[in-house]
Amino acid sequence: MKHLKLKYALRDSELVHISQVESGGSHGCTCPACNKALVAKKGIKREHHFAHKAGDSCEHAVETALHYAAKEVLDRHRKICLPEAFITFNSNRGHLKISEEKTCSIESLKIEQGISGFVPDLIAKVRGRELLIEVFVTHKVDEQKQQKIIDSKLSALEIDLSKAPRNMPLEELEELIVNQCENKTWINNERVNEEYKKILSQTLERQIRTTHVHCCPVRSRKWQSQSNVNFMRECIYCPL
Ligand SMILES: [Zn+2]
Repeated sequence: MKHLKLKYALRDSELVHISQVESGGSHGCTCPACNKALVAKKGIKREHHFAHKAGDSCEHAVETALHYAAKEVLDRHRKICLPEAFITFNSNRGHLKISEEKTCSIESLKIEQGISGFVPDLIAKVRGRELLIEVFVTHKVDEQKQQKIIDSKLSALEIDLSKAPRNMPLEELEELIVNQCENKTWINNERVNEEYKKILSQTLERQIRTTHVHCCPVRSRKWQSQSNVNFMRECIYCPL
């Protein structure tokens, strides 16, 4: 997707696809990233696309255009499929599922608006809560941004479009963004964090003072033919 041609431009704040304009002129179309005028290139040999005028360099055009395309698609459908969410334990207990994959209504949507010292690609409102949506094209969310997202105490979803085919038609992009979940991961999930805190406090309330717990009902590990677990390593992550 790195060399993807620019397929979208802005005109009077509306997103325009290359198929909607005549070849050769600017038609009032500007770059979503740098606001400079674009030219529609619709020749016979090369893939139809918008191009900056000679001499204008623009690094983020395709990435920003896809953020606008994602917003446009979500605005039109007003729903999004969200993936399952799990608590992952630092023990051999495996995962605890907190929520199933489900499609939720989007109440409102904003693009690239600053929040607590960082700029998420999209901010959606789902079930009265803000949900941050990151669209990964060439720039994955780095550790610094991830930490800011966690500190903001808002759930954040990443939609990975980095491996999507170059000539992906709009309908497939819509399908990936709205209805599918395979390319979506939670960067931060506040329900998972809240449930995890609950489990932790419930476990600590038991005031187990020994380092090992004998006859563990979970029986995650056996020692001397009894189920026996290490308190610090396993019990504090256990929901039972
Ligand atoms: Zn540009």
